[in-house]
Amino acid sequence: MSKIYNVGIIGAGVSGVVTALQLAKHNIDSVLFEQEKSVVNGPPFCHLHAGGNLYPDISIEQCKLLMKQSIEMARLFPESIDERPTFISVPKTEKYEIAQLTKRLDALVAYYTSLIAEDPANAILGKPEAYYKVYSQSDLMALAKHPVVAVPKSADQWLINTLHLVDFNKLKTPVILVQEFGWNLFRLGAQAQLALEKSQYCDLKMQTNVRSIKDVRHKNLDHNWEIQTKDTVVKTRYLVNSSGFKAGDFDASLRIKTKHLIEFKAAYVSKWQPISGLIPELIFHGERGTPRGMVQLTPYRDHYYQIHAMTNAITLFEKGLVKSDAEIKLEFDRAITQKLKHGWETNEVNERTEKAIASVAQFLPAFKSATVGGPPLFGAQQIPGDDPSFRVGEVSFPCKTYARSEIVKASSALTVARQIMDQIKALGIISNLEKRGDENALLESISKDDIDALARRFAMQRGYPEALSQLLIPRKS
Ligand SMILES: Cc1cc2nc3c(=O)[nH]c(=O)nc-3n(C[C@H](O)[C@H](O)[C@H](O)COP(=O)(O)OP(=O)(O)OC[C@H]3O[C@@H](n4cnc5c(N)ncnc54)[C@H](O)[C@@H]3O)c2cc1C
Repeated sequence: MSKIYNVGIIGAGVSGVVTALQLAKHNIDSVLFEQEKSVVNGPPFCHLHAGGNLYPDISIEQCKLLMKQSIEMARLFPESIDERPTFISVPKTEKYEIAQLTKRLDALVAYYTSLIAEDPANAILGKPEAYYKVYSQSDLMALAKHPVVAVPKSADQWLINTLHLVDFNKLKTPVILVQEFGWNLFRLGAQAQLALEKSQYCDLKMQTNVRSIKDVRHKNLDHNWEIQTKDTVVKTRYLVNSSGFKAGDFDASLRIKTKHLIEFKAAYVSKWQPISGLIPELIFHGERGTPRGMVQLTPYRDHYYQIHAMTNAITLFEKGLVKSDAEIKLEFDRAITQKLKHGWETNEVNERTEKAIASVAQFLPAFKSATVGGPPLFGAQQIPGDDPSFRVGEVSFPCKTYARSEIVKASSALTVARQIMDQIKALGIISNLEKRGDENALLESISKDDIDALARRFAMQRGYPEALSQLLIPRKS
């Protein structure tokens, strides 16, 4: 008789791997299917949204959730966190006011303080009183007299380096520096894959496409789901659909109704001349989807920079957002599907990266000398419901023994995994569930050197510069 797994997980993106790790921590066996060669191979991420400051329009509740979830994920994957801060500004041409953000920031400081009071290990973002700093016009004039610092150690030093490059005449004052850090997907993927390969509880099936799922709950068997791949049928008691933007396809095949959107986006890799001091991530806010959408410059090692610009000509795409009512398979148009399946044409890489560079150069004039540094980081994701500005998707349980991960930001992955664990416990389908603490011994057993080596390999195998797998400011252990 073939083995019956307790849990079957479709998709080893950040959600699938964190769910499998959480199950392994509780000694629950799972089988994890991933069609690609390595885990965390879907849409990219580079920013730990620890407070939602890239989104002036979202509610304080979403900001707090993003902060809490980001701290939890940073504690789980400390080797993936890049401790450089984020500079936030509003161009003079924009309708936003910095006051929209500062109001929320005070509430976030109070919330962060309460998280640290609950558990001092939550102090991932530094001291609460240093979570953010506001700089007025006169502060900027005073700081501008200081020389550049090679590796900044304080908020003021990060700002001094920014002042030497950014055209502040284009920006409203005040500006903000906030402790939202960088988040390295290659390093997270490397640590997760190494841990899962070591786990006796997870059967990781790479390069294995799930073709279909059969619901056999009504047949009174020892299992509820049959997962069909090219070569086998795998039986499981519980099913987790964490297949990212493909999650709706499996729902549709099971005639489960879900309302969701799928969105395709891209970020561009550029290389610039050496500059004398490190800079924070730079945000120039602007209205999403208009030609002046937000510009985000993310620094990496060896003078590589990643660029998002929230306009249809750069990060967003004309038909990049697709809506569904229910029970239908959502599809992108041919051009986007082609990119997802086969990658990009060189001329489009060059054209969009050059536009991305020009969008940064509006605010950082010297950046016009940057060049194309590699292929774009791109991918498609789901957004539950019908509101494209929704940022904290979690999980839904459309029927018994079936969970559908609906994360919008990578930071929600642990929350989803915990909710799935709670549902499995409540259903009572697995006996002898052990109570465990917050730590994950399997992840902690993976050495920094092994993470470094595999993260480098992941970056290079996927055609990116090795530097994209490295951190500017690693966490102090
Ligand atoms: C350009 C861009 C920038 C982003 N930046 C950030 C950021 O800075 N910070 C942040 O927190 N979030 C960011 N996000 C969002 C983040 O990337 C996603 O929330 C997250 O990666 C989703 O993870 P997931 O595990 O749900 O899905 P995915 O990562 O899509 O994982 C699903 C997996 O399922 C596999 N799969 C699908 N179908 C099958 C099948 N039939 N058989 C086997 N395997 C299958 C896929 O190969 C994939 O590996 C960004 C998204 C984009 C597009």
